[in-house]
Amino acid sequence: MAQSYYQKEIETMPVDELKKLQSEKLVKQVKHVYENVAYYRNLMDEKGVKPEDIKGIEDLYKLPFISKADLRDAYPTGMLAVPMSECVRIHSTSGTTGRRVVAFYTQNDIDLWEDCCARAIVAAGGTKDDICQVGYGYGLFTGGFGLNGGSQKVGCLTLPMSSGNTERQIQFMMDLKSTILCCTPSYAAYLGESLKEQGYTADTIPLKAGIFGAEPWTEEMRKNIEATLGIKAYDIYGLTETSGPGVAFECCEQTGMHINEDHFIAEIIDPDTGEVLPEGEKGELVFTALDKEAFPLLRYRTRDICVLSRKKCSCGRTLIKMAKPMGRTDDMLIIRGVNVFPSQIETVLLKEGYEPNYQIVVDRVNNNDTFDVNVEISPDKFTDMVSEILAMEKTLANAMKIMLGINPSVHLVAPKSIARSEGKAVRVVDKRKLI
Ligand code: ADP
Ligand code: ZN
Repeated sequence: MAQSYYQKEIETMPVDELKKLQSEKLVKQVKHVYENVAYYRNLMDEKGVKPEDIKGIEDLYKLPFISKADLRDAYPTGMLAVPMSECVRIHSTSGTTGRRVVAFYTQNDIDLWEDCCARAIVAAGGTKDDICQVGYGYGLFTGGFGLNGGSQKVGCLTLPMSSGNTERQIQFMMDLKSTILCCTPSYAAYLGESLKEQGYTADTIPLKAGIFGAEPWTEEMRKNIEATLGIKAYDIYGLTETSGPGVAFECCEQTGMHINEDHFIAEIIDPDTGEVLPEGEKGELVFTALDKEAFPLLRYRTRDICVLSRKKCSCGRTLIKMAKPMGRTDDMLIIRGVNVFPSQIETVLLKEGYEPNYQIVVDRVNNNDTFDVNVEISPDKFTDMVSEILAMEKTLANAMKIMLGINPSVHLVAPKSIARSEGKAVRVVDKRKLI
């Protein structure tokens, strides 16, 4: 397929020019942050770095990192770099109370973010003649609004379906003949299964392309989705902290995602030492946002593990590519699109009077995540009565649902029956084989 571009001059800009552009923007952005965000100014002062020390991207390494913990510390407005009256929107990560990160946007921030999403849609072959069905959630989650904005910028007829309601998704897809589908890969697979059950085949489904992201997915899953829906499936990456999806997107090569380097500088660091690693080495992805006004981020540690490559791409884009993230540096699980930390399960167990002896088992059956939590019953709670066991399981499941926002199946098991390796319990068994 011949490649089209949404912003050709940027997407195909010679690398040395791109780096010059990044340098100019970085100098300005550091000044903006230092002057307007006390939290980051303190971090810079602690490190003895002044805005004048940053003369270009070669000085980036001098700046302090920020982490999710910093953003939580600064919740809700501590990272805000413009007056609230300049902001037109917020979005938020899907974390539970206390873990949420709230990101603010000026109109310009929204514009640039939507441009990034528009680049992704055009790279997937989208034009103004397309009908783009957006099945990401609308609301605080960034996916729906981001792709919606990008789709309108491209000029596609945009169907703001939001997530879920599979019957309605299928009805609109068929009646309006959607050609592009944007949603999470697991939902795309689920929709594919549902279409198949209703007798639709790759030939009778009007879609030609899909833009799927917000969670990890494998090449195997890509092949399945492509075959079932009769489409090309493209990956898209982003996080709320960096605006949302569209930080990086796949082109016709489908061998990694081009990072929108005019807006973001990507670094790979050793997660243990913080040392910057050379291109091609695996490590933690760090982003510096160059244009964000309301919620700027300098050297933000994403915790996503990945590799960058500047190998020439056949699509003509010069933007560096990131491989699919290969997991995270922390123990966070994404189950049905929701962040789950083992520590949250532990908190519930302790509160409900259980020992923290548990194991989370996650699997993917028929393209849906299953979520089981096995909990060792403490001897003082032991009973032969099935009804009592069931009631205890239900109480625990409800408490976890309140904490996590999603419903696990809780199973009480005999004391000491959960496998321990070297004395430690194995907390997570992820059978989804996503990495
Ligand atoms: P939350 O942090 O609440 O999940 P985000 O939607 O901001 O909210 O999630 C961002 C995270 O989702 C990323 O850091 C990454 O781990 C994951 N992610 C997003 N897109 C992809 C993708 N295409 N492939 C793998 N992981 C992804
Ligand atoms: Zn490319």
